[in-house]
Amino acid sequence: MDEQTARELLVERGKSLYERRYAHGSSGNLSVRVDDAILITPTGSCLGRLAPERISKVAPDGRHVAGDAPSKESFLHLAMYSERPDAKAIVHLHCTCAVAISCMVHENPRDVLPPLTAYYVMRVGKLPLVPYFRPGDKALAEAVRKEARRHRAVLLANHGPVVAGKSLDEAVDNAEELEATAQLALLLEGRKTAPLDMQKIAELERAFPS
Ligand SMILES: [Zn+2]
Repeated sequence: MDEQTARELLVERGKSLYERRYAHGSSGNLSVRVDDAILITPTGSCLGRLAPERISKVAPDGRHVAGDAPSKESFLHLAMYSERPDAKAIVHLHCTCAVAISCMVHENPRDVLPPLTAYYVMRVGKLPLVPYFRPGDKALAEAVRKEARRHRAVLLANHGPVVAGKSLDEAVDNAEELEATAQLALLLEGRKTAPLDMQKIAELERAFPS
């Protein structure tokens, strides 16, 4: 995808996420890998009101190359890209249900959402909880890097999900699937549920290798 098309797509998908309340205020950020750089939504920008020419361009080491100043959370994206060469886009949201899950106490922080549906297993898989760090703490990048090697999505404690995809559309779809499953998990809390068992998950992994 050429840079101009990527810029326009970021604007369009940002608006769609904002209008459907996956993002509020100036929360959330989206990025796309183009050639040897990353296009990312600017700091303090509202996903509903982005402009193609103002999208920030940064080098893989985080150096600001063009456009407005990049999101202060761009280091999260860069950490994930550096560990996942197949990732072409990343979506980070403060969407309500996933954030609620990120604020709960979990018996198994290695995987904090149940495999309720086949689509969740195929789009997200296991979801590790990354410990809380204050905004801007660079130690968070190292914690994300550690999990990103084996997971296409991570959940930052008391914060929200960071989700990768092989295209922006795939990353958006994966993030939406994660939020839908977080909502289901909250709806089902305290009820007897039947998540997919290991055999069903293994069958999915064979039929749809990622
Ligand atoms: Zn955030």
